[in-house]
Amino acid sequence: MNITDNLRKIKDSLPVNVNLIAVSKFHPFEAVQELYDAGHRIFGESRMQEIDEKHKHLPSDVEWHFIGHLQRNKVKDIIPYTHTIHSVDSPRLLAEIAKQTEVQEKEVRCLLQIHIADEETKYGFSIDECKELLNKGEWKNYNYAYIGGVMGMATYTDDKEQVRDEFRKLKRLFDELKQEYFASDDRFSEISMGMSGDYQIAIEEGSTMIRIGTTIFGEREY
Ligand SMILES: *Cc1c(COP(=O)(O)O)cnc(C)c1O
Repeated sequence: MNITDNLRKIKDSLPVNVNLIAVSKFHPFEAVQELYDAGHRIFGESRMQEIDEKHKHLPSDVEWHFIGHLQRNKVKDIIPYTHTIHSVDSPRLLAEIAKQTEVQEKEVRCLLQIHIADEETKYGFSIDECKELLNKGEWKNYNYAYIGGVMGMATYTDDKEQVRDEFRKLKRLFDELKQEYFASDDRFSEISMGMSGDYQIAIEEGSTMIRIGTTIFGEREY
């Protein structure tokens, strides 16, 4: 099967409320172009240099999603063409995105990355840190950067029940935040969870955005 068939097969299987982010990292822009020509518009990248180069080769109506760890000094460069940043993992990063979107008068949707996995990683808010950020309330003053939901990655394991529990935890947090901070804000609506190995479980547990690389493009060569 070619990548267009892979994409179609996944898309045809999705509930209508779930969006597919085609994660094109480590694959050439021609592969993105092929899916673009087949009508797909939403692509995800996780490395700053790669998205900065790749986007130049593609039409401007591609909806670029940044999904990797983002350094604050790189924020201003990706703002002009980035639609959504899934990986907002610190108050300082959010503040920098707010500042640069203000300067550039460019709206960017931000998802708060929550650490749900049973794995050591430097990235992502704990549930308490996330609530602390929201309680402080500075985000309410941002004009161009808005919080559109949450993102999380489950533990890389064959234990499907563990993966399900972690996705449930993220869904529960989303529901709680929605009620407590965003009840009247329709833009807070996304739960970005699910990758090639676990997206079916993520959808069952309430995902609205799945981020799929390998199942569409094949294995990455690092
Ligand atoms: C690479 C990546 C994906 C896609 O992973 P696959 O297993 O290839 O589908 C999804 N989310 C993030 C944050 C990634 O870095």
